[in-house]
Amino acid sequence: MLIVMRADATDEQIERACAAVRDAGLAPHPIPGKSRVAIGITGNTGPVDPGMFSGLPGVVEVIRVTRPFKLTNREMKPDDTIVRVGNVEVGGPEIVVIAGPCSVETRDQTIHAAQSARRLGAHVLRGGAFKPRTSPYAFQGLGPEALRILDEAREATGLPVVSEVVSTDDVPLMERHVDVLQIGARNMQNYALLKRVGASRKPVLLKRGMSATLEEFLLAAEYVITHGNRNVILCERGIRAFSDYSRFTLDISIVPELKRITHLPVIVDPSHAAGKRDLVIPLARAAIAAGADGVMVEIHDDPKRALSDAAQALTVPMFAEMMEELKIIVPAVRRGRTVTA
Ligand code: PEP
Ligand code: MN
Repeated sequence: MLIVMRADATDEQIERACAAVRDAGLAPHPIPGKSRVAIGITGNTGPVDPGMFSGLPGVVEVIRVTRPFKLTNREMKPDDTIVRVGNVEVGGPEIVVIAGPCSVETRDQTIHAAQSARRLGAHVLRGGAFKPRTSPYAFQGLGPEALRILDEAREATGLPVVSEVVSTDDVPLMERHVDVLQIGARNMQNYALLKRVGASRKPVLLKRGMSATLEEFLLAAEYVITHGNRNVILCERGIRAFSDYSRFTLDISIVPELKRITHLPVIVDPSHAAGKRDLVIPLARAAIAAGADGVMVEIHDDPKRALSDAAQALTVPMFAEMMEELKIIVPAVRRGRTVTA
């Protein structure tokens, strides 16, 4: 249910409508829009009588939201959500490029990758400190030491940092070091973790689970938002299908569908979808052409020495080529200022 307030509704009228929602045992979520405030209602297990709210002063109309996802739904909030990461806006007119190594391996490797990313026009640095690896024998990440290296990389380049959090216990530590908390595909339905990052003030980059439907993906985002954190960036990273030539299958069609259904920013990670570097640039082009708000790619100075996801890491010259190609695509889809090098 959504209560739409008049454009000239007073703060008192908005508060009164929120109080009426609370009195009904439900939770009000005021959503400021360009011209008016709407109040999303959650917490009901069955239908709510719109008559409880439609006669209140300042209320224009009460709309039923039929889909199970409420706060991520564009019906609730028609304006795009813009997530601020340092000075970068994700979901605004400009396309955002996130680049960096899969894992932080050494100080030099990370600083070099960060400097290349910065020089070639990336807006955000990525780098895994805690790695969710399929095999317990694979490199698990440097942990806290990686976070210190990422701090240095931020200092050296000015780029904000995104890194994955794999456990609720690590959230306070991660919050001290990173600008965006990434929830990986394998944790998209880790509800304890979703609730915990929902209580954080740091933006969340939520990756789609490899077998998640659009509805499951948005309900995962809903967990974060209902726990108080509206700054969620969605990331399509490939789903499991029957491809025998790529690691996953990039579900490009979910990009325009998400943009239609939700107000949240949507980015694409072509690296994990492809699993091999030669596919990454064409998939990045496709993502932007399909309406994504940005891309996240893995880069490495010397991919053959990478400790994780070596086959999909772009070399620095390849990353430069990708940025050049995006400079052609970005204006073609009428997205603000082009990526600047
Ligand atoms: C990653 O971005 O490093 C990662 C592990 O990705 P995903 O969760 O999409 O597999
Ligand atoms: Mn990786």
